[in-house]
This record gives sequence, C-alpha cells and structure tokens, in this order.
Amino acid sequence: MPDNLTRIDHPLIAHKLSLMRDKATPAAIFRQLLREISLLMAYEVLRDLPLTTRPIDTPLETMDAPFLAGRKLVLVSILRAGNGLLDGMLDLVPSARVGHIGLYRDPDTLAAVEYYLKLPTNVAERPVILVDPMLATGNSVSAAVARLKQHDCRDIRFVCLLAAPEGIAALGKAHPDVRVFTAAIDSHLNDHGYIVPGLGDAGDRMYGTK
Ligand code: URA
Repeated sequence: MPDNLTRIDHPLIAHKLSLMRDKATPAAIFRQLLREISLLMAYEVLRDLPLTTRPIDTPLETMDAPFLAGRKLVLVSILRAGNGLLDGMLDLVPSARVGHIGLYRDPDTLAAVEYYLKLPTNVAERPVILVDPMLATGNSVSAAVARLKQHDCRDIRFVCLLAAPEGIAALGKAHPDVRVFTAAIDSHLNDHGYIVPGLGDAGDRMYGTK
C-alpha cells in the first residue's frame, strides 16, 4: 500500500459499507449509511488536528482545557456524490467552511469536465478535506486537486469510500503530496470506469436517479 494511502479499518464501517453495496438497499438508507460512515471516517482523518489550551472554569475549578487550534477546516465536495460524505463530516465539524467543485465524467473519454466551482475565501491558508465517495479512474479527483492547488491550497487530504487500484495509482502519480483515506480498496475498474465489485453509481444510488 502506498505511503500516502490509509485504509480505515473498522467493523462498523465494514458492516455499513456492505449494506450500501447491496443493490436492494433503498436510496434513503443508502444516504443515511453514507452519512454514518463519513462521521466514523472523519474521526480518523482528523486525528492529528492541532490542539491548543485555554483556561475554563468547570463547576469545581479552573483548568487548561484542550480546544482545536489554527484555521477552520475547509471541506470540499466533488458534486454531486461528494455531498453524501460532506454531510456526515459537517455533523462532526459544524464550523468547517464548505466548497463545491462540480465535475462530470465525459462518458466517452472518462475525462473530468468542470462545470461549477465555489470555494471559501482564504482557502489557501486552511487545511482542505476533499470528499468524493468513489476513487475510480482518479481523473475527477486529480482535476479537483489541481484546481485547489491553482488556488494555492497546500494541505489537501482526500477522503473516499471505495478506491480502485487504478485510481490510487493515478492520483498518487499526479499528486503524491495528497493523503488519501478510503474505507475499502476494490478489485478493478470495468470498461465503463465503474469500480468492481463497487456499489454502482454513487450519485444515482443516493438520489434514486436510476
Ligand atoms: N463513480 C461511481 O459513482 N461509481 C463508480 O463505480 C465509479 C465512479
């Protein structure tokens, strides 16, 4: 496994992910499971956030209590499926700033085409957590990271649910400085760029569009 890749290994995540993979799982449950998994993943992804201390008064005495230090995080969702991971992370870090990058895959070339971009101000000075459930070819994520780097972002982590070996290799080659977190590494991509065994089209599964 490449140095920049972390597979988050937890029985609750594995169980919920299996439910998501099952094609019989309805969209409402699929969304709920994705939200729950993203919360569990955020716990691990944000494990090394810096802390500072401030004095507070408990009912018993004054203490130096730990609080998050530094600039607020930026969560960036790759539309539209990224919003499923975003929601759970926002539950855990409600003060995070949020950006969106709209990218679709050209069905013939599988290249990423950008159609929307909105990033918070001062994004360059903040740690960025980029989210998209599926790391398939790596084209969309690589394009999103390149766009963030154009905005001078330097501290970028990418969080996905499923990763294909092809996508891991492509992203690692294009952006070796980006740390990648995934809940599972699947077998391969099929001829249409879908992850196998995968869970199908994450956006369609979330929103019942197919
Ligand atoms: N995007 C998806 O939603 N599913 C895949 O399997 C690959 C890319």
